[in-house]
Amino acid sequence: MNIRENIPIKDLTTMRLGGPARFVIAIEHAEECTEAFGFVKEKGLPFYFLGAGANSLGLDTGFDGALILNQIKGIEILQESENVLIVKAGGGEIWDDFVQFVVSKNFSGVEAMAKIPGTVGAAPVQNIGAYGQEAKDTLESVEVYDSLLDEYKEIMAKDCDFAYRHSIFNSGKDKGRYFILSATFKFTEHQLKQPFYNSLQAYLDEHHIADYSPKSVYDAVAEIRKNKLPDPAKEASAGSFFKNIILDEPPKNKDIPYRETKDGKFKVNTGWLLENAGLKGKTFHGFKVSDKAALILINESGETYEDLQRAVTEIQKIIKDKYGLALEPEPVKIEAD
Ligand SMILES: Cc1cc2nc3c(=O)[nH]c(=O)nc-3n(C[C@H](O)[C@H](O)[C@H](O)COP(=O)(O)OP(=O)(O)OC[C@H]3O[C@@H](n4cnc5c(N)ncnc54)[C@H](O)[C@@H]3O)c2cc1C
Repeated sequence: MNIRENIPIKDLTTMRLGGPARFVIAIEHAEECTEAFGFVKEKGLPFYFLGAGANSLGLDTGFDGALILNQIKGIEILQESENVLIVKAGGGEIWDDFVQFVVSKNFSGVEAMAKIPGTVGAAPVQNIGAYGQEAKDTLESVEVYDSLLDEYKEIMAKDCDFAYRHSIFNSGKDKGRYFILSATFKFTEHQLKQPFYNSLQAYLDEHHIADYSPKSVYDAVAEIRKNKLPDPAKEASAGSFFKNIILDEPPKNKDIPYRETKDGKFKVNTGWLLENAGLKGKTFHGFKVSDKAALILINESGETYEDLQRAVTEIQKIIKDKYGLALEPEPVKIEAD
């Protein structure tokens, strides 16, 4: 366990905003949790779990508590045969390293989630997804430290209440309670199921790719993302800033395209709303609506969270006035619950 004091949150998050965190506690081994949470509780501090900070936003006031950083590494095969691969990965593993590992074994299930920035431990939190795959599709279980009861336990995927960008880890009474130490995934397929996402299919067609193996799809998605999405090492962002909108009924405005989801809801592509409202490439208080993918806000010259908040409020108002729909930010504020 490594404890540092007064660390700027902007250096730990990809949007590069935020004042100092009073403590940053890095956990490299699961057993260190007892000591780490003992320290935090003895001091009566609030805490926030952090991976690579690709979906977290630091506030200007910083965080008068402890950031608990997951740096638990390791990828372990629990079962491997021709038709089944069960893999357990440490919560601090880089998600894309884990994806590449599974792809190298020629199993399908995560290859369309190539290059999503962040850690394995954060993947179940908002049930990450891309190009038709979601973490929940192959996740079996997670090992956690339960910060309420101070005990280690396993939670099965079926008990995580997964939905679009939703789980027990980011919503409801248990939000922020479980520190995810490792995640176990089970793979039984060797090829992504068709129909593919339109943009993925279009890329494959355009490049005359008929090989739908995990490696081929991984490479295609990586290339699509490279051309469309900001590289966190070069441009500050938190990825898609607004969630797609899930409605119980189709949108009243007939111009708005939507897709019916497997559970009978109606998903509106927020990127389309932003683009159609003419916001692509526009800059608000130093935050630019990406001209390649309108869902992404790039921090070009924003200095403060307050700048971001102003930009977000203006964008939300434009969309509300034009379409009557409310945009909800996807990234999480680093603050005490
Ligand atoms: C350029 C870019 C592209 C992106 N593309 C996508 C995409 O295609 N699809 C997608 O779904 N997301 C995408 N994202 C968002 C982001 O990559 C994911 O949300 C990712 O899971 C964040 O991982 P992280 O380790 O950086 O999480 P963090 O920002 O560190 O944490 C995110 C949330 O998880 C919690 N958390 C983190 N680690 C743990 C843990 N070990 N235990 C319990 N809770 C924890 C945090 O408290 C916080 O609530 C993108 C982001 C960027 C910057």
